[in-house]
Amino acid sequence: MLSAQTTDVNVNKVTPALFEKYRGPEDYLAAPLEELERDIYATGFFRQKAKAIRGTMRTLLEEFDGEVPRRLEDLVRLPGVARKTANVVAAELGNAQGIVVDTHVRRLSQRLGLTRKDDPVKIERDLQRVVPRPDWARFPHLLIWHGRRICDARRPLCAECVLENLCPSSRLGASYDRAVNP
Ligand code: SF4
Repeated sequence: MLSAQTTDVNVNKVTPALFEKYRGPEDYLAAPLEELERDIYATGFFRQKAKAIRGTMRTLLEEFDGEVPRRLEDLVRLPGVARKTANVVAAELGNAQGIVVDTHVRRLSQRLGLTRKDDPVKIERDLQRVVPRPDWARFPHLLIWHGRRICDARRPLCAECVLENLCPSSRLGASYDRAVNP
């Protein structure tokens, strides 16, 4: 929820003190709203985020005995939690029910020819058809790391890529050469 529209660096600036200070859902509701806003200020959009956090904490207490639910359909009912976040949380709780599609997963899936879609929900559907279910939780991590280390958005290192012989977007292939040097 904190990571919307910001960087991991900014999120990591606030979480150590935040998690130390607020130990459970009750603590987020006990603090004045302005105090919570101040505590998450560095992540940007702090007003909406503080409101969503408090809404989620209230729902957790009122409907889920103060525990984070494990089912996707319950997670998406929490304020500020959409399908991507719900998929992340379910996977981290060991109960993946879908595949996380963020900007990196989208780019890599398209490059590797696993989907032709642009919409995250449709991309997820395509991925669910080709990725074995036991791998749903770790698959996005593999793509994200591959994107960071090898398949950079602007300069993919195709010559070093273990998937090069399978990848329809390889820049080493004749088809790519023809496309960039017609
Ligand atoms: S071959 Fe190139 S474009 Fe394809 S996945 Fe590897 S680095 Fe990315």
